[in-house]
Amino acid sequence: MAEKKLLSGNEAIARGAFEAGVTVGTGYPGTPSTEILESLTTYPGIYTEWSVNEKVAFEVAMGAALSGARCLLTMKHVGLNVAADPLFTASYTGIKGGLVLANADDPAMHSSQNEQDNRHYAYAAKVPMLEPSDCQEAKDFTVFAYNLSETYDTPVILRTVTRLSHSLGVVEIEESPSREREIEGFRRNLKKYVMIPGHARARHVVVEERMKRLEKDVNGFSINKMEIADSNIGFITSGIVDTYVREVFPDASVLKLGCVNPLPGEMIREFFGRVKKVSVVEELDPFIELRIRAMGLQVEGKKYYPVTGELTPDLVRKPFQGEAALTVKTAKKGLENRISLPPRPPSLCPGCPHREFFKIARKLGLIVTGDIGCYTLGVLPPYNAMDTCVEMGGSIGHAQGIEIAGGKPEGTGVVAVIGDSTFAHSGITGLLNAAYNGRRSLIVVLDNSTTAMTGMQPNPLSGQRINGEETVRLDYIKLALAFGMNEENVRIVDAYRPKEIEEALTSLLESKRLSLLVVQGLCIILKKRRRKAG
Ligand code: SF4
Repeated sequence: MAEKKLLSGNEAIARGAFEAGVTVGTGYPGTPSTEILESLTTYPGIYTEWSVNEKVAFEVAMGAALSGARCLLTMKHVGLNVAADPLFTASYTGIKGGLVLANADDPAMHSSQNEQDNRHYAYAAKVPMLEPSDCQEAKDFTVFAYNLSETYDTPVILRTVTRLSHSLGVVEIEESPSREREIEGFRRNLKKYVMIPGHARARHVVVEERMKRLEKDVNGFSINKMEIADSNIGFITSGIVDTYVREVFPDASVLKLGCVNPLPGEMIREFFGRVKKVSVVEELDPFIELRIRAMGLQVEGKKYYPVTGELTPDLVRKPFQGEAALTVKTAKKGLENRISLPPRPPSLCPGCPHREFFKIARKLGLIVTGDIGCYTLGVLPPYNAMDTCVEMGGSIGHAQGIEIAGGKPEGTGVVAVIGDSTFAHSGITGLLNAAYNGRRSLIVVLDNSTTAMTGMQPNPLSGQRINGEETVRLDYIKLALAFGMNEENVRIVDAYRPKEIEEALTSLLESKRLSLLVVQGLCIILKKRRRKAG
């Protein structure tokens, strides 16, 4: 029996995974993907975990999939850079239980450090990629993805974007889905699962054959839809952009691609035979346009649309206004009288325990190599106390590079600054590198006992798991000692004691030895939440 529910795109993906019989969900929090796994935790019979980073999340999910369990893996677009290594080889080994990677791109960079278009990953790794355009499809395509994954023995990427992940829509759900699936457990298959070169060469042939089969079969997938109306003009769309095209040009012919890798070549050729002029409307890179051109077909797209930022219905309409040959009679006008709000740049919360640190860093004239998370905001006024920020865990390596390069950096000293969650994600390896290579850097962990920026998820330094269970908490001192650091070069101070912070910074810098300073202060938002919850 089906019922209707109001769900966000992310919640709809989790619902789809539940209905598909998923029993394992892993991921690393990252806006806009975070709520997928959080929503999955609300369903019974599913093991979920926040893994320490995306690569580990992939590896855990893959182990479960090779045992026959259906697994959901979640991360944001840049997270796939971290998990790219296992992805490319998982394409060779294949899976046993369906393995779906829900990956959220962030056009316009609402909360990201770059705007990469992850459709390229599917093409490069030779795995199918599905792109839902609304919340109902987010659920339906997830279920479809598991069947696809098992039929073709491949991981499948389900790509969403911020606008879809966070939009709300009515979704028809199965009230009591049948989740019965037998999990066989792991069975040895050295030629398939052990990718030494001799085995991998044979598996590459299998991957190419799989892609050929998919390229043929994709033309019959129900998730690709062709609607012929006005024969003068046709649009090729996918994902959230499809809803903009339909809103602006309700009478146009549309070929909506549910699967963007591989493309349904036969359907595309048929579409070209039925409309006079075809335009691709896609956000970010000309991913679809270039592949259609490679088929020898004349198509337009990025001639009209930018390769940066999000598209909107207004942007979709603009190129076709006033062009007689391209006029679609019923194009609607944009919304009038929009309220324009003054732009409000983000900032550290008033009362954030780590404001003091940035004030002191500025006062001391330190060069601060920074990282991803709340503390990136230390770059903004009134602090202006951050000099680099590139990727998760990068700050510690950047400080080492500055030290190695030598010269006279313009500040009074170089410190790497990183949050506790990011330190666990990929900062620890940077610290190990510094210890191993005899660096003298000062690394500061601003520990707020949570992953605040993505919504207060626990991490290995907060002592809780995804479901709130108590667990081990990484001990900074033991870790540093295990890395061979001197005990006097590891200090833990209270974020609300500025004098102690300043003294520790100065003396650790003067020691000219590899040092770790942990500044602890519970995130005030989390503190308030805990107080409220009693
Ligand atoms: S969310 Fe918490 S840690 Fe982040 S800026 Fe606000 S108070 Fe600080």
